[in-house]
Amino acid sequence: MPKMMPAIFFGHGNPMNAVTENVYADGWKKIGRSLQLPKAILAISAHWYIPACTVTMNEQPPTIHDFGGFPQALYDIEYPAPGSPTLARRVADLLSPIAVAHDDRWGLDHGTWCVLMHVFPEADVPTVQLSIDKKQPPAYHYKVGKRLAPLRDEGVLIVGSGNLVHNLHTYAWGDHNVEPFDWAVRFEDKVRDLLLKGDDTPLVDYEGMGQDAMLSIPTPDHYLPLLYILGLRNDNDKVSFPVEGVDGGSVSMLAVQLG
Ligand code: ZN
Repeated sequence: MPKMMPAIFFGHGNPMNAVTENVYADGWKKIGRSLQLPKAILAISAHWYIPACTVTMNEQPPTIHDFGGFPQALYDIEYPAPGSPTLARRVADLLSPIAVAHDDRWGLDHGTWCVLMHVFPEADVPTVQLSIDKKQPPAYHYKVGKRLAPLRDEGVLIVGSGNLVHNLHTYAWGDHNVEPFDWAVRFEDKVRDLLLKGDDTPLVDYEGMGQDAMLSIPTPDHYLPLLYILGLRNDNDKVSFPVEGVDGGSVSMLAVQLG
């Protein structure tokens, strides 16, 4: 029987991380080298935040350049990982009775490929995306994570891609090394502490975590992928933070690995 796959939340940050050699990209490469090759990847990206629960069904998902105002080099990138309609159907089965729509127009957005191109540079692992249903409350996303847990025994790597702290109003564009804001550091520390204790309830009910949480999570999209990963936690899982750092003062690049 194959070993249970870990589940990983990645802080993806600035799309330029796809083409920049930095500590984050290095950390992602290192994670890739540490993993057994998954049979497939299921990615939950902050950038597919739509009013529906949907999986990508395409045999060959397109690389989506869903950002504006970046250098041409970023638009030229293709991440040609195949899709997996088999995994997409399995996801829909596991989530039943939630109605899961099939999609063949979306593909891999930059929340997914900016990270995976470093983790699995060969782009040879079939990859499916699951959307984040923006109509649903935080507890729903945690519950969906729990339903997906059997995939970890089936050789599937489940990846959440967002950012634990993601405040672009205060982000220092082009200045990556500014001191992080106090509220960002406090919130990240608090979350790490809860993760290490295995105390998921406040993390799911993050809206009750006070002003630091409000500043760190001005919109839910980049935080919610973490709740899917939390839902996948197994009692024997070790929690680790294989990538750390705060970019531009207010984007936490923390990666959270379970198992
Ligand atoms: Zn993003």
